[in-house]
Amino acid sequence: MNQFQYVRASKPKAAIEALARDPNAQFIAGGTNLLDLMKRGVMAPQKLIDINKLPLDKIERQEGNIRIGALALNGAVAEDKLVLEKLPLLAQALNAGASAQLRNMATVGGNMLQRTRCPYFYDTAMPCNKREPGTGCGALEGFNRMHAIFGFSDKCIAVHPSDMSVALAALDATVLISGPKGDRRIPFAELHRLPGDQPHIDTTLGAGELITAVEVPDNAFSRHVHYLKVRERASYAFALVSVAAALQLDGSTIKDARLAMGGVAHKPWRLTDAEKALVGKPATDETFRQAAEVAMRGAKAFKHNAYKLKLGPNSIVQALKNAAAA
Ligand code: SF4
Repeated sequence: MNQFQYVRASKPKAAIEALARDPNAQFIAGGTNLLDLMKRGVMAPQKLIDINKLPLDKIERQEGNIRIGALALNGAVAEDKLVLEKLPLLAQALNAGASAQLRNMATVGGNMLQRTRCPYFYDTAMPCNKREPGTGCGALEGFNRMHAIFGFSDKCIAVHPSDMSVALAALDATVLISGPKGDRRIPFAELHRLPGDQPHIDTTLGAGELITAVEVPDNAFSRHVHYLKVRERASYAFALVSVAAALQLDGSTIKDARLAMGGVAHKPWRLTDAEKALVGKPATDETFRQAAEVAMRGAKAFKHNAYKLKLGPNSIVQALKNAAAA
């Protein structure tokens, strides 16, 4: 591992100023992804700014929202009474995301900002436009079994690895950000980028910006919800495909729906057309199948991931059935 400086910030303003002063610095909180990346030579920040002491770990109700501090631990959020009562979809996604050990280290902010698990990104002997812009993409003609079927480019076909982010995308969360130019809020859907010509840039965060919290509307998606994750082994692994499904039912009629997929794109993949296809329809297998067909429009597979074209719609149907029955 490269040598690096380590400093600890005790106030958000000091952390932001420290990062803004040094373009080669990185924030570190749980470190569950960043330290792996540093040990393997994928990232080599010259300074780590430890933000674990910042007062950003509260989970509280605020004006029609549940606000979750960026430094709240994944395990604490998944077990929080308010989250279990109001946002069970988020709790399910967090519990599906990682082992208890990781959940007790990883933070909400870090979970959003974790980097792809594309094996070529981690192998410094292989070309990777995300790790080293302009070197090519090892996965395009390589073993692309885990890779994207939506929103990819000819520069990168990686997928975002976070389960939590799929639930937050489905639930219309808002990201709260502080930076050198002040505070701002963005819809969760605008946090992560598609790869385009610049796959090395994962998010729309500006230089020196810090995620301070995420807000999720305290809406009626608290009962008929299901997070379905399909992975290669029953113990913890990243999603081949995942689906966050939430329904509001009036008897057996769907009043409103939220749907997003993971493991299929460079960002959590919200399925708004499929949501519209569900609203006003009876909650039946036929309705769910039609919505899944809508959801998969535009999907395109590579040599080794064609199975996702079947696994995707089947997972959507199953997640919706489970949500309706919840
Ligand atoms: Fe790198 Fe993206 Fe290609 Fe993977 S898919 S090798 S992360 S450029």
